[in-house]
Amino acid sequence: MYKKRLTYALMTAALFIFGAARVLVAAEAGASAISPAEALSRLMAGNQRFQHDTTHQPLLHAKRREELAGGQAPFAVILSCSDSRVPPELIFDQGLGGLFVVRIAGNTVTRAGLESIDYAVEHLGTNLIMVLGHDSCGAVKGAVGECGSKPAAQLPEIFGNICPAVARARKQRAANLDSHAIDLNVDEQVNILKRSPLFNQRVSDGSLKIVGARYKLRSGKVELLDGN
Ligand SMILES: [Zn+2]
Repeated sequence: MYKKRLTYALMTAALFIFGAARVLVAAEAGASAISPAEALSRLMAGNQRFQHDTTHQPLLHAKRREELAGGQAPFAVILSCSDSRVPPELIFDQGLGGLFVVRIAGNTVTRAGLESIDYAVEHLGTNLIMVLGHDSCGAVKGAVGECGSKPAAQLPEIFGNICPAVARARKQRAANLDSHAIDLNVDEQVNILKRSPLFNQRVSDGSLKIVGARYKLRSGKVELLDGN
């Protein structure tokens, strides 16, 4: 009798845990309903509001905090620079729970960054990834001065990740090397993400979009780069 009761209790507990896990997954998978195209148009609409000083600063209130306490379903991942002038939530006029943001000087893909992005795509249902470079990026400028025949002596990981873009910019004999390297660096990172076995299948079938963009410091405008 005792054994039977114990088995019943264990089964009930297992079902409860399974049910709770499913509810959590369902709550967190909400963003998968938002297509890559719709997510991109939301971002660009938010950036329009930011450019024209008509921000909503939406979804920052107590009710929103309460809604999000049980789970999140961000509609876009942004890989951007740590630069204080380029905070994604502000320049896209988004509130809490809208964006899953990975920031690192020079907006390059690191191993931990890749794992973070994968978490949003795999577990939170996010279908759009944007790599966002910006005007006058100090990290890229620094890399242009540092990347050469020898591995970068300073900031070896950050500059090392940017060096392939600098080499491409030099090869193309760009008139403005710093500026061109900023765009090529975004392009390099987009390609790294697209080629990753984590994402390449979903990029091919169109269910996940990875785009590159550049933020203009003066106008506040985010421009999609060629090929997007
Ligand atoms: Zn920067």
